[in-house]
Amino acid sequence: VIIFPSRITLARINREKSDLARFETQLKQLRKVPAETMDGFRITLAANIEMPEDIPSVIAHGGEGVGLYRTEYFYLNRTDVPDEEEQFRAYNRVAKKLKPDSVIIRTLDLGGDKFNSALEIPPEINPFMGWRAIRFCLERQDIFKTQLRAILRSSCQKNVKVMFPMISGFSELERILKIWEETKDELKRKGVPFYPDMEVGIMIEIPAAVVMADVLARQVDFFSIGTNDLIQYTLAVDRVNEKIAYLYDPLNPAVLRFIRQVINIGHQNNIWVGMCGEMAGDLLSVPILLGLGLDEFSVSPVLIPEVKKVINSLHLSEVRQLAQAVLQHRSADKIRTEVKKLLRQVAPIMLEREEQKR
Ligand code: PEP
Ligand code: MG
Repeated sequence: VIIFPSRITLARINREKSDLARFETQLKQLRKVPAETMDGFRITLAANIEMPEDIPSVIAHGGEGVGLYRTEYFYLNRTDVPDEEEQFRAYNRVAKKLKPDSVIIRTLDLGGDKFNSALEIPPEINPFMGWRAIRFCLERQDIFKTQLRAILRSSCQKNVKVMFPMISGFSELERILKIWEETKDELKRKGVPFYPDMEVGIMIEIPAAVVMADVLARQVDFFSIGTNDLIQYTLAVDRVNEKIAYLYDPLNPAVLRFIRQVINIGHQNNIWVGMCGEMAGDLLSVPILLGLGLDEFSVSPVLIPEVKKVINSLHLSEVRQLAQAVLQHRSADKIRTEVKKLLRQVAPIMLEREEQKR
């Protein structure tokens, strides 16, 4: 708050205000433009959502479908558990509204930082490493199968994909895929329709899954990298602990090496690789991710225009070079300097905005 601003201060602020308005109008104009580099390389830029009410924002910001539909919000702030019909209605509504763009529904990821009082998940010392997500679903198969039935029924729209979170290895995935097939058989026997060619993917957010990516890739149709968790587990930095937030760095070379590994292994096994963690919307990470060959970025709807503006200012050839170069560096600071150098040349306004945010 500036008390009794001088004429000069007022003039400066008004100037900044109109610059910002002009810039935001420019971003809005990108709504119908595809996310494509200057040399014609097209990627999918999708949105992360939490409920059907988020759809207008996805459309308004020009999102190409949904790369992460976090379904746990159904289960929060209530004392009961949502039934199949309630879930089906929501999934079906989202799929129908966004057709023909894809909608990736992530199965329940409760626990960690998300709880429901009806499910009596006991307090744990390390909830992020505890009884959460798929570990909970494997034990509460009644709840899990209810959700899988709702997802399968919504697949009749033909643009729905399913994704399992917190996969830590092959045997766990095998158990999940067995339940998935059983649920399909049960629906078939009852004559309930679903789309049989629906894509099935997993989130890569545990270091063990990165190490085993070649084995996991043979079981699924796609990977989506969940950097919010992958960074915390890789660097042993609790994602909600402000005291050590300075260590939580997407540009840490260890994180980048893991991401490179997942993308390369995915492609070697002919599956596509996306990212739905916050890193996909981090403007300094975007050029590197693009250069590493990420196929899909899924970010919060409000970030879509900014991410698109950065992608559309870059050449694939230059970001490939950048990715190769930064992966030789030993520190995040050096990597950051190199990305900024490129952004200063090709998207100076975006860099300025990014620096103001920090
Ligand atoms: C992630 O871990 O990156 C992710 C997208 O999942 P969540 O933030 O819901 O744990
Ligand atoms: Mg996660």
